[in-house]
Amino acid sequence: MDVEERARDVDRTPPAPGDLELVRAFLSVHDHVRGHERSLPPSPESVRAFLVERGLLAPTDRPTPEDLDVALAVHQALHRRVETGPGGSLGREDVEVIEAAARAAGLELRLGGAGPPALAARATGVLGALGRILAIWFLAEIDGSWNRLKVCGDESCVAVFYDRSRNRSGRWCSMQECGNRNKVRAWRARRRVGHADDA
Ligand SMILES: [Zn+2]
Repeated sequence: MDVEERARDVDRTPPAPGDLELVRAFLSVHDHVRGHERSLPPSPESVRAFLVERGLLAPTDRPTPEDLDVALAVHQALHRRVETGPGGSLGREDVEVIEAAARAAGLELRLGGAGPPALAARATGVLGALGRILAIWFLAEIDGSWNRLKVCGDESCVAVFYDRSRNRSGRWCSMQECGNRNKVRAWRARRRVGHADDA
């Protein structure tokens, strides 16, 4: 595979409410080989670029490959947690990944000062950014808002979306992209069946 051909996909999914949007967007980061529909896991560079865009990492910061490996491992672990859905839990390896990342980030309670109480990271750089993401994830598990995150139902899409529907029946990361594509696909399939019946 030509490495130059691989690039981060644009995120077209509507935002999740509040801080959860940061985690939703992080988990939606993925790559594509140009001209191919199938989503690939993000490259370390895609993750770095995302953290810079979101102001979690200075553009001049040069993260180590080890730190970016931790970022990819946290990405995978939390993505799997979305896949297991409401009431699901993390696998043992994912628990270890997240506990180790939280320790490396130096997550701590901040109760003093002018702002509201916060779960904040002592570390800077990529590890600090992961601490912020893990703090938001942790609080969303507790308040239940995590249960509205879903992985897109399109077979070639790994984007994560926040299901705002009342009965939690949402299926697609965005109606413009995967929703539309699957509507057309379903319509074509119905039409084929219709023609078969005619014959
Ligand atoms: Zn999708």
